[in-house]
Amino acid sequence: MTVRAPELIPVAAPWITAREGDLCREAALTAWGPDHYRFNREFEQSFARYLGVTHAVSLPHATAALHLGLAALGVGPGDEVIVPAVTWIASVAPVTYVGAAPVLVDIDPVTWCIDPAAVEAAITPRTRAIIGVDLYGSMCDWPALRAIADRHGLGLIEDAAEALGSSLNGRRAGAFGDVAAFSFHGSKTLATGEGGMVTTDRDDLLARIQALRDHGRPPGDRFFLNTEIAFKYKMSAVQAALGLAQMERIDAMIARKRQIFAWYRDRLGHRRDIRINAEPPGVENSFWMVSVVPDAGCPLDKFALMAALRERNIDSRPFFSLLSEIPAFDSRPEAARFLPPVPRGRLAATKGINLPSGYNMDEEKADLVSRALIEVLDAAAPA
Ligand SMILES: *Cc1c(COP(=O)(O)O)cnc(C)c1O
Repeated sequence: MTVRAPELIPVAAPWITAREGDLCREAALTAWGPDHYRFNREFEQSFARYLGVTHAVSLPHATAALHLGLAALGVGPGDEVIVPAVTWIASVAPVTYVGAAPVLVDIDPVTWCIDPAAVEAAITPRTRAIIGVDLYGSMCDWPALRAIADRHGLGLIEDAAEALGSSLNGRRAGAFGDVAAFSFHGSKTLATGEGGMVTTDRDDLLARIQALRDHGRPPGDRFFLNTEIAFKYKMSAVQAALGLAQMERIDAMIARKRQIFAWYRDRLGHRRDIRINAEPPGVENSFWMVSVVPDAGCPLDKFALMAALRERNIDSRPFFSLLSEIPAFDSRPEAARFLPPVPRGRLAATKGINLPSGYNMDEEKADLVSRALIEVLDAAAPA
């Protein structure tokens, strides 16, 4: 072992400046009474403008955005929702909150996003919606998913929690679903600690979301005459101030993410024994997490790879597992009924890792991580 970081390189880190501090202070001191929603409104407006969508609603997290999206589309008990088999569990858990059943389908081994052909093959009379996830900043084949959704009369939900700033054919992630979800968890591209946003172009869905996220109050209700029992999902003004400060330099933030990926690509892109994040023609990837998937010949699984990097003082994350193979899905075998015995997403799900991709990265750190990874892969390679 020759490569070792002098101090631990974390896998994620936000980009917080004095501007965030100033706006949070202003929000804490002034965002009360009639002005309590001012920072949220400004954050939502700048977010919607950036995406090129009509409506954005700030929320406590992306999980709430997905829950509200499903509820606003009317998905409920007895319904099935088609989801990718490899994603963070938050993409899928809200399906169960509305009483519906998630149906797992395979992902594309290159883009790591849901495979439209697998979606088509999993449609039943009970299917009500499709959730596509723009994994690690990659873009789903949204034109194909839209065609399938329209042909079968299904709702289309975009989990863009990891894809702020990515685009497909000039349209930004979050502009493709009937509703889209974003996360501002501390590890994400834009961070408010915890936080999320739901976006939509549809006035009818916006109205449902506004009522559902505020305990079923009709618009402007001041008399506490709720018309239904619903949910309470709001973002605080101080969090919105954090988000607003970051939206002021969103282009620089996305450029930084792309720079971090470029440093890694220059050092790892030539390796024939690994695959890194895809950027097919028409896609601009904001590379939330630089990810590496060794080929089948690599004897190390993702946990062994992480341990070897950890010995070198480098933090990493495992690629998301096949949901059908984690304990939470033991009680839902029927969720996996359309998955092949060896899904094409299995290689990434068992061998892939995310490399340090936070805003604290510089070229020197990316170089060190790359050299460490190469050392680990070469040492493990069968002779
Ligand atoms: C982070 C994440 C979420 C959930 O975001 P929260 O804000 O933590 O609710 C959902 N989907 C994906 C793909 C994510 O990465």
